Amino acid sequence: MTKEFVDVLIIGAGPSGCVSASYLHKNNVRIKVVEKTKFPRLVVGESLIPRVMDHFAEAELLESLDAMNFEKKLGARFIRGEEICVFDFSKKFGEGWDWTWQVPRADFDNTMAQEVIRKGIDLEFESEVLEVSFEGKKSKTIVKDKDGNLKEIHANFIIDSSGYGRVLPRLLDLDTPSQLDPHSSIFAHVKDINRPEGEEGTQISFDILETEVWLWVIPFSNGNTSLGVVGPTDFINSLSENKDNAEALRNAIQKSDYYIKRFKGTEFLFEPVKLENYSRAVKRMYGDGFALTGNSSEFLDPVFSSGVAFATESGMLAAKLYLKESQGIAVDWEVEFTAYMKRGIAVFTTYVKEWYTGNLQTLFFHQPENPEVKEKICSVLAGYVWNEENPFVKKHDHVIKNMAYLLNMQKEQSPE
Ligand SMILES: Cc1cc2nc3c(=O)[nH]c(=O)nc-3n(C[C@H](O)[C@H](O)[C@H](O)COP(=O)(O)OP(=O)(O)OC[C@H]3O[C@@H](n4cnc5c(N)ncnc54)[C@H](O)[C@@H]3O)c2cc1C
Repeated sequence: MTKEFVDVLIIGAGPSGCVSASYLHKNNVRIKVVEKTKFPRLVVGESLIPRVMDHFAEAELLESLDAMNFEKKLGARFIRGEEICVFDFSKKFGEGWDWTWQVPRADFDNTMAQEVIRKGIDLEFESEVLEVSFEGKKSKTIVKDKDGNLKEIHANFIIDSSGYGRVLPRLLDLDTPSQLDPHSSIFAHVKDINRPEGEEGTQISFDILETEVWLWVIPFSNGNTSLGVVGPTDFINSLSENKDNAEALRNAIQKSDYYIKRFKGTEFLFEPVKLENYSRAVKRMYGDGFALTGNSSEFLDPVFSSGVAFATESGMLAAKLYLKESQGIAVDWEVEFTAYMKRGIAVFTTYVKEWYTGNLQTLFFHQPENPEVKEKICSVLAGYVWNEENPFVKKHDHVIKNMAYLLNMQKEQSPE
């Protein structure tokens, strides 16, 4: 068996792994990335939020992504029957990027991975991690390459960015049930032949079909659009008696008064994919000689498009902390990694939960709009969930519930 020796082994070449890799390489760390599949590969997660731009800029990946002319995402629209709520990232509280992209992830991730290779990083596709063993902080990883050959990779540190592959959570028994209710999704891409001109055609939208059920519409600059339905697993399963994903997604589109005409009869570009009970959590996010980043650690819910932003946030942070430690500076992983990530996760967990209780929807669709409330929520939706100057971050655990309660009371007391 051949042997390789590196400082850091990164498992997975999604956004989390690529951001980590690029940052460490820039800082002269000897790394290797192993990726199970051959890119481009299909993956869900096409609506980004502005916070990711900070990470792509810092990892020096922004320029190559910008050259791809992906559809710009300037905000997000939420639809509930006749009611519409549009968030514009340029009108958010505090500092930060006010735009990002909506992207076919196959092309997006491939662009990043090719840029990582162009920088001289050793990224090996079709190489799957099978086993990992630790001796103190040092690890030995067994990888199978595309010809079926096994090799040993010895590393001082592993950044596990393996997404739903969840390599270390599986091997080290770190999985734990998510605190969110079981939800599932079915999605596909369509050729958007009835796409209207202008903003209406390109705006990313979330259409609420029932309080807990929603449809995403994510138009891409290549003329295709991603359509996905999300809801409680029982509901998603009830969309097709025969467990036919295409029929289920068509039935969901039928329920959208807003989009039924635009997408009636359009062919799916691939067999719709079902992602069942997608929320994930772990017992711990790091250990001796490793850190878990992106979906390999936590995944909450797609409703606020936070998945890639958490993947790049944690990928970048793990890389920085490894670098610090390798320079002989002590790192408190519990405080600097877990507690930091958990603060952001807690804010989004509240928003996800309050979305499905309907409380957040009460705030979104209340008329007249309150611009001060809206700009603060907008900052959260842009991913700036560590900005404690924002009361909608700092007091997330009760502000939405309390405001929704008051608005509902007001409504009861003054019916039109
Ligand atoms: C229904 C649904 C909708 C979503 N919508 C959005 C959205 O709109 N916006 C958003 O930001 N996020 C969204 N997400 C979340 C998003 O998909 C993820 O958060 C994001 O892709 C995580 O990136 P990552 O780099 O951690 O993992 P990934 O992008 O999944 O990359 C992990 C890589 O690791 C590789 N790998 C796995 N196992 C191994 C192994 N054994 N050896 C080597 N390599 C391995 C995989 O092949 C993969 O390429 C959604 C998720 C779901 C379930």
